[in-house]
Amino acid sequence: MSKIVINKKHYFHNLDLISKQTGGKEKIAVVLKDNAYGHGLKEIASLAQEYGISKAVVRTSKEAQEVKNYFSYILILAESTFDTYSHTFHIVINSLEDIQKVPIHSNVHLKIDTGMHRNGICIKDIEVAIYRLLDKKLHLTGVLSHHKKADTLSTDFFYQQEVFKNVKKEIKNLCEKLSISLPNFHLCNSSALFRSKSFDDDFARVGLASYGYLENDAVFDNPNLKPVLSLWANKLSTRFIKKNYSVGYGGEYLAQKDMYVSTYDIGYGDGFLRIGKKYNYHTPKMYKILGRISMDSLSINSQDDEVCIFEDVKQLANIHKTISYEILSNLSSLLSKEIKS
Ligand SMILES: *Cc1c(COP(=O)(O)O)cnc(C)c1O
Repeated sequence: MSKIVINKKHYFHNLDLISKQTGGKEKIAVVLKDNAYGHGLKEIASLAQEYGISKAVVRTSKEAQEVKNYFSYILILAESTFDTYSHTFHIVINSLEDIQKVPIHSNVHLKIDTGMHRNGICIKDIEVAIYRLLDKKLHLTGVLSHHKKADTLSTDFFYQQEVFKNVKKEIKNLCEKLSISLPNFHLCNSSALFRSKSFDDDFARVGLASYGYLENDAVFDNPNLKPVLSLWANKLSTRFIKKNYSVGYGGEYLAQKDMYVSTYDIGYGDGFLRIGKKYNYHTPKMYKILGRISMDSLSINSQDDEVCIFEDVKQLANIHKTISYEILSNLSSLLSKEIKS
């Protein structure tokens, strides 16, 4: 059966580099949304716990429930039906309206729009928001924002850092005035963390870098991260075909010589997208995918029982004109997982 293999050494290596940057593993919140970017929610949660990480970031309360035994602090980014309450959960408030939806006594993190204009409350509404939180007996445990251009060379990065600094000051002053304890402040994702010269937030929300990638412009000094996930498929059948025989749907591949072709059990139904005919894709062992990819299978010029389809998604991201995030998070959560230590 096709499967995902998780390389524990690589994951821990990446977490080592990330801890160096944050100044300690207690300042890392691992981002596990969308099935841990395709790697497997529970598998990555358990490895993160083993490494000594105590904070995680997920998208929904359903994901939070699934990993609640692994972490003492779970940030929920985008939930709209708040019906569960837990001391471990910290719910992100993305708008003033959200404040009305959160159950009383919940821990909340206030998201501030510092320039991305996607989510978060406006800076002018900070004071109103905090009064409303107190009215609803919510605990303000964090304040966050998100960079819009952390991975490209642009002054917006520094501008948003400055804006966030001022937000911190304003909120610290308000907390003193109202005698409430200071929340955790966090702004950085992976790219922003590795661009920060001196990291002084309470923690960073790190997804992509922990899985071994960064999408930063080449002008930045990129750390030596190692891809964590590799995708493997098993042979279903082998046949010998003659020169000029075609393979697969549309008969798109034409054999240039007599050859062996095998079919392997992975396809676009598993999230391994079809590759257009003008692209040449090579597996790590330099085998070629021949012709079109089917829903549950593909053909390769190999007779091996098992083939590694990829161990680094950068080549595929180029072919599909997209980012590593999309190739990874597209992988089916139904794929079986194996952890290689
Ligand atoms: C997904 C996400 C992250 C993680 O981003 P990476 O670039 O993968 O590190 C951090 N913060 C928020 C709000 C996110 O949605």
